[in-house]
Amino acid sequence: MIQLSDIEKVLGSVIHPEYEKSVIELSLVQNLTYQNDSGEDNAGTIKFRLVFHRNDPMANSIKEACQKALNEAFPKAKTSILVLIDTNKATGHNKGELGRGDAGKEEIEKIQNIIAVASGKGGVGKSTVAVNLAIALAQSGYKVGLLDADVYGPSVPKMTATEDYLPPIAEKEVNGEKKQFIVPIEKYGVKWMSIGYFAKPEQALIWRGPMACGALKQLTFEVLWGELDYLLIDLPPGTGDIHITMIQEIPLTGAIIVTTPQQIALADVEKGINMFRNKDVHTPIYGIVENMSWFTPKELPNNKYYLFGKNGGEKMAEKYNVPLLGQIPIVMGVMEGGDNGRPAALDEGEIQSRFREIAENL
Ligand code: ADP
Repeated sequence: MIQLSDIEKVLGSVIHPEYEKSVIELSLVQNLTYQNDSGEDNAGTIKFRLVFHRNDPMANSIKEACQKALNEAFPKAKTSILVLIDTNKATGHNKGELGRGDAGKEEIEKIQNIIAVASGKGGVGKSTVAVNLAIALAQSGYKVGLLDADVYGPSVPKMTATEDYLPPIAEKEVNGEKKQFIVPIEKYGVKWMSIGYFAKPEQALIWRGPMACGALKQLTFEVLWGELDYLLIDLPPGTGDIHITMIQEIPLTGAIIVTTPQQIALADVEKGINMFRNKDVHTPIYGIVENMSWFTPKELPNNKYYLFGKNGGEKMAEKYNVPLLGQIPIVMGVMEGGDNGRPAALDEGEIQSRFREIAENL
């Protein structure tokens, strides 16, 4: 016969990645009951509520993790988990049931193009390109959103100086049912949403694969994007199984790959291209953006120093028959813009025109 203490022990193994504590330690599990009228040993139903104190992007993934752990421990028993948000304590949001991952199908249908921005490895400037390209598209008159799904190092809050933003929750009726949506922040003409708004920067974000997928899904479908021409999704760097699962969950229209001309980054680009061309994924690649293409010192404006090799992106684009959307040189202003929250594409100059050109080619 299953005891409540056995169930709690199993749930004690389900860890919330942000707080690094179990759902039991965090007191997220409430009204736990076990009922067995079947007469069969260890069958019956385990029921409880998972109560979050805000619209937690991890909620659905944690629910799934609980379900999985209980199914493994008690294969004959059924589980019924209700996810609730009780924000009275924390933020004063309304109580209500958290929408499932597909609650926002209707919202997502208002988006014309959903484009993943990917890179084979970290540090090539993927987020910098995504943020500046979003601004360039907005400057060209399009309605643009950017979802920063880089669970390993969300950079949109810092790059747009919106670190203090606490995403509010809005209720909306979908098919006669009230659903809760996260409201994105609007700045520089773009709607921004980041996994970073839900976790403090000093917290090490150790997300397990399925949790990262759940968060991405929720931040895509359950955000009030409104009508958009473009939603860019800044993916975590890399090309593993987790990425394949992620991109399968989102109705992408296409992808952009960011690289530096360096050989090793290029080897990773191949993996990136193959990931999107995988038969289970099949997402068109709109092109490659080569970042850090050359360096021009202020005092020698006509000189170009190809620190990471020359035209690597062009060769790769030719080899894989995808367009080279543009090249961005190494410029102090690009780095400074990222650090002080005012992206370089906002101000007139070479960087702005280069990002406008990429937007046009896209
Ligand atoms: P990724 O998202 O690929 O990890 P980031 O966009 O965070 O990379 O960029 C890594 C670092 O390089 C940041 O400090 C950023 O400001 C800097 N950087 C990116 N592109 C450029 C560039 N073209 N010129 C100067 N610095 C750049």
